[in-house]
Amino acid sequence: MTAHAPQADEQQAQFLSELIEHGLLLPSGVPGVYGHGAVFEDVRGRLDERLSAEAAALGAERLRFPPVLPRRQLENSGYLSSFPHLAGSVYSFDGDEQQARVQSERAARHEDWGEFQEMTELTLMPAACYPVYPAIAARGPLPAGGVFVDAGGAWVFRHEPSHDPSRRQIFHQHELVRIAEPERVLEWRDEWAQRGLDLLTRFGLDARLDTANDPFFGRRGRMLAANQRGERLKLELLVPIAGPEPTACASFNHHREHFAGTYGLTLASGETAHTACLGFGHERIVLALLRRHGLDPAAWPDPVRAELWRDAAR
Ligand SMILES: [Zn+2]
Repeated sequence: MTAHAPQADEQQAQFLSELIEHGLLLPSGVPGVYGHGAVFEDVRGRLDERLSAEAAALGAERLRFPPVLPRRQLENSGYLSSFPHLAGSVYSFDGDEQQARVQSERAARHEDWGEFQEMTELTLMPAACYPVYPAIAARGPLPAGGVFVDAGGAWVFRHEPSHDPSRRQIFHQHELVRIAEPERVLEWRDEWAQRGLDLLTRFGLDARLDTANDPFFGRRGRMLAANQRGERLKLELLVPIAGPEPTACASFNHHREHFAGTYGLTLASGETAHTACLGFGHERIVLALLRRHGLDPAAWPDPVRAELWRDAAR
């Protein structure tokens, strides 16, 4: 079954067609899935470098992971109970020649060929921090001071087809992860929320920080969302892009012992660590910049260009 993609409002539809007309986004025919033109990708690449440079200067260790996650890790994380509607799983053919022939004929007619597909041990990556926890846990107890990881601008998948150009099914989420003692982790999360706000403000964006919740599924989800807000576990940087509501361009998440408990992340003392992650949405930030300063980055105000094209300006 294909999920219905809600219609974008007029502003969003207009912005999307301008982005496509200018070659910034390359439509795929599926809502929320786009290629990037050279100009878009140049800005995104600069942003990626800028975020990683900032993290490296503060001691982050650079790790990179492919955009698929072992199914077992998704199962352990609790994602399917909180966000069953957003997950994407990888299926593959595992049949005989006769079945291959029928599958191919049905596919050629664009009919359903799902019955020939079997679950693999992989899912699409739901959030860029997921592979970090087991990788760090595999090293054994944390060193003094914990770890700080830059997982980079990684492709992540969310099954939520939309005609709003800022709501994509697959996009780059630049995640930084902190695993350490509880106070240290919370302090880090709050510092980065402020650093993120400063950064977007220097980009000339009208950003504000707010308490938020994840899009948890179902009735139990409403409870989880209320709890998350009440305990200020999730903060978001909201920026107007197109449409009636501002768009979350970055989030700052405190997981307490959730991932540490799942993967056995322990402090040098043997106690369970806490974790926090933050994610900057590359595409959303680029879209916010294009919307605010115009579709030609060469004509953006000098102070904004200086933030992203630092080396080029020298
Ligand atoms: Zn995360």
